[in-house]
Amino acid sequence: MTRTVVVTGGGTGIGYAVAAAFAEQGAHVYITGRREPVLAEARSRLGDGVSTVVCDATDPDQIEALRDQLPTTVDVLVNNAGGNRDLDGPGPGAPQLGAVGLSGQGPRTPDNLHALAAAWRANLEGNLVSAVLMTAALDKQLAPGGAVVHIGSFAADRGAGSYGAAKAGLNSWNLFLARQLGARDITSNVVSPGYIADTEFFRDRNGQQFHEARVAETMNGRAGYPEDIAGAVVFLASPAARHVTGQVLNVNGGALTTR
Ligand code: NDP
Repeated sequence: MTRTVVVTGGGTGIGYAVAAAFAEQGAHVYITGRREPVLAEARSRLGDGVSTVVCDATDPDQIEALRDQLPTTVDVLVNNAGGNRDLDGPGPGAPQLGAVGLSGQGPRTPDNLHALAAAWRANLEGNLVSAVLMTAALDKQLAPGGAVVHIGSFAADRGAGSYGAAKAGLNSWNLFLARQLGARDITSNVVSPGYIADTEFFRDRNGQQFHEARVAETMNGRAGYPEDIAGAVVFLASPAARHVTGQVLNVNGGALTTR
């Protein structure tokens, strides 16, 4: 039977690789994101087994509209949408990097509490609340034998300010969710990537020096790539992983997580 898979943020990077891996297996994959042209471009590359829905994973109304477009049964939900507001830099209406202090990238003392609050809320909403809302919205549609996989980050263990705190919250909430869903034979796990090259995440920080520093942190001397994360997600959503739930699977080349 054809499985239905939903991948948030499936138009680029890790989400795209996850969508491609499931599509390759013959699943029908729904990819979401906020930018319609990005989704359309991804779909043209991924083929007929993929549908796109524009949906901001932090917006309850848009998520309800998405739910109405999905089949009555969803086998796999991948909560991949996310990012680090500190790295995004000042977009329209966003706080200046230097003003957000305490969030990991800026100076230690915030001189603008409004900017600090906005940055923290953005990272908590974008990386944690989004996963909670998506899972709650699709809860009744999730099929027995199904799986929810969240994309966390090794930033959760590295003192990475608001972004790390949001991803650490995801790890904690995953335990609660695994218990809730367990009674219905649905698993919930986090895949926690280390540095993953070739995505929009680090954008212009992906210079050679930055890249080499991240590779030097690993035990196997290589960068991770979106396909490495996709492999772990596909495993956790497979029958081989039926007894794996409430876990955080680190996919980081053995990178030290205590910095
Ligand atoms: P990308 O920036 O390429 O992917 C993020 C995707 O999420 C984009 O497609 C983006 O599309 C979408 N997205 C972001 N916010 C929302 C939202 N509110 N609603 C819907 N879609 C959203 O980077 P990655 O592929 O690297 O990141 C994927 C995940 O992996 C993230 O959760 C990130 O935190 C995590 N991660 C990445 C690491 C890395 O080194 N690259 C390391 C550890 C974790 P759009 O802007 O169109 O909405």
